[in-house]
Amino acid sequence: MEDPAPGDVNALLRRLPQVDEVLRRDGARRLLGRAPRWAVVAAVREEIDALRARVRAGDDEAPEIAEAALERRVDRMLRPSLRRVLNATGVVLHTNLGRAPLARAAVERVAEIARGYSNLEYRLAEGARGSRHDHVAALLTALTGAEAALVVNNNAAAVLLVLAAVADAREVIVSRGELVEIGGSFRVPDVMRASGARLVEVGTTNRTHAADYERAIGADTALLLKVHRSNFALVGFTAEVPMAELAAIGRARGVPTMMDLGSGSMVPTGELGLEDEPTVGALVAAGADVVTFSGDKLLGGPQAGLILARTAIVERLRSHPLLRAVRPDKMTLAALEATLELHRDGRAREELPAVAMLGASLPSLRARAERLRAAVQARAPLLRIELREVRSAVGGGALPRSEPPSVALAIAHPRLSADALDDLLRRGDPPVVARIADGRLLADVRTLFDDEIEAVAAAMAALPGG
Ligand SMILES: *Cc1c(COP(=O)(O)O)cnc(C)c1O
Repeated sequence: MEDPAPGDVNALLRRLPQVDEVLRRDGARRLLGRAPRWAVVAAVREEIDALRARVRAGDDEAPEIAEAALERRVDRMLRPSLRRVLNATGVVLHTNLGRAPLARAAVERVAEIARGYSNLEYRLAEGARGSRHDHVAALLTALTGAEAALVVNNNAAAVLLVLAAVADAREVIVSRGELVEIGGSFRVPDVMRASGARLVEVGTTNRTHAADYERAIGADTALLLKVHRSNFALVGFTAEVPMAELAAIGRARGVPTMMDLGSGSMVPTGELGLEDEPTVGALVAAGADVVTFSGDKLLGGPQAGLILARTAIVERLRSHPLLRAVRPDKMTLAALEATLELHRDGRAREELPAVAMLGASLPSLRARAERLRAAVQARAPLLRIELREVRSAVGGGALPRSEPPSVALAIAHPRLSADALDDLLRRGDPPVVARIADGRLLADVRTLFDDEIEAVAAAMAALPGG
């Protein structure tokens, strides 16, 4: 074929190969040896289309199909949508990044249960049908002192189920200071409406007193509900009724009380160096008839909604038709049981990643930051790196006032802006999610595992000129 004259678009387009022809070449055949045919065919088609577009846009280069370009396209097509991410944000229970990472024991339990059959709804001793709801109930009651327990798909489902079953279209009294939006469209008044319960607001935004609840209780009152404010704090001239006092009011008037605890910790948060909050067990001891919380927040386990309640209430929940729609999967139950075992055995601080990250000491974080800096500098000597003291966050709507001190690598590239760096790292493989402050890219080491340091360094080394 003659070389086309410069600017002869039609001649250049005629030089584009057919898909079949490219598939017979060595490069494509090598790819076919390791990737499914559909992906290689699609990659070739995409690459030919891209070259055609380039020629039409006035690119004078003779279009060539490069094996490396095909390989990149094939890899992108075969990449799963849900992927492991390296979290350098310092936000431990990052809802967008999957909240609590599971303990090794929980991951192994999930793999074992998921790989084969299990006694999910089968009583082995009797050879009879059982209930999935029996597996973790005893652990939960032993750990918290609750009479009975039930696990559902998440805490939003837990609240919805309790409201539907206990309030049953009657009145639920809530303080105006607790009508919060948690994010991800969980708004207390909306959940209430969806459950069919009728919301009765008492008190003011900043102050609610025992007398406010007392006055609102009537013949149609089904529940006194307290909601953890989670991601916002009320400061200044404020008053709220503690759970123990509300429980006493409920008992005196024959109305059950409930606390939507949101995060709910088994480990006293003060021991982790964070703001002190009552543990789940303390709320049960305070007399709440129902306590609900999430499995993947401070508990450090899988997404789940944990309900601790009086036996009669759990029985009602178990026979409610909505339970079928919000019941947990076997993988959830496997991970949750293993997580609760670690709490039972006093190994939460060592073995549950989220709890360990929250309790990590500043010297240990500084040592990790030094290791990360050395690893990055060895692989990407062009990057300028300083260690900075920063503040991490708990995340997941928990403890908004606790910002534990941490150490971050402040990374500067000789040519790329912080935004460009951030973008490239997010789109790398594996993706690294960091944050930007004062025009610098900050990688907080609190949320990086020690065995992720080399992967972060490799991601930095893959930056252009890095
Ligand atoms: C997080 C939270 C929820 C929602 O819990 P999920 O497990 O995410 O469904 C509900 N209530 C409160 C107070 C929360 O903090």
